[in-house]
Amino acid sequence: MPAVTYAWLEANRVALLSEEEYRNAFCVQFGLLPLAGYRMSPSISGIRHCAFCAHRGQERLELPAHLLSACPRFLNIRRLRHDAVAALVVAAVRASPVMPGATRQKEVVRERSLGCVAVDGSVSDVERRLRPDAYVFDHDLLVITPVEFTVPDDAHLVQKIAQKQAKYNGVVARARPAPPGYSFARPVVIAVGAMGAIPPHTLAALTILGVPYEAIQPLLIRVLRVVMRYNAMTARIRFALGGRWVPQPSVC
Ligand SMILES: [Zn+2]
Repeated sequence: MPAVTYAWLEANRVALLSEEEYRNAFCVQFGLLPLAGYRMSPSISGIRHCAFCAHRGQERLELPAHLLSACPRFLNIRRLRHDAVAALVVAAVRASPVMPGATRQKEVVRERSLGCVAVDGSVSDVERRLRPDAYVFDHDLLVITPVEFTVPDDAHLVQKIAQKQAKYNGVVARARPAPPGYSFARPVVIAVGAMGAIPPHTLAALTILGVPYEAIQPLLIRVLRVVMRYNAMTARIRFALGGRWVPQPSVC
């Protein structure tokens, strides 16, 4: 099994990340980032909470999981991180060699709701609007595999995978594909922890999508680097403003 979990911490990969990315990842991993949640004055109301969320009436302890995986202040960066991971995996699937016995490359389709891929009536009006991140078409086996990508907090990887499966498994099992003769496979989830944990589920999912065994480790190393790049960007924005994003009184 490819060993990629926390690969950035391994001695033979010290040059994997840039200096800024490594410094940020190291501080996050070992609790050294000066986040409010680490402050030692819990008696002062709100001082350990995320300032951005507190300003909107929500008390959220500001710890790495909140910074990298939950705070609405960084939603745009998380979307970019998600899309960057998806783009790498989709490119790897498209570049994979034709499987032994197959005649055609697998096709990856994105930006389609379930209603566009399934027969009318086999999914409800609400389910029609569901939009998996991608579909992988196997034109030899006539199978369509819905794919979801997620970059949750490392501690919630299993929970996040289960949530995605619960969201799609039932509806995909009931749905009938629009192309004649095709069937839906069980949806797969490509999950990568925000700090670099890679669950076995992701390795199995990449294999199902046709990524060759020898290509999985290099792919996940690239995924890890892009995740760390966006994590460093998040931290840079978090610490860039003295006002911690709380509106400051205007200076006359
Ligand atoms: Zn927040």
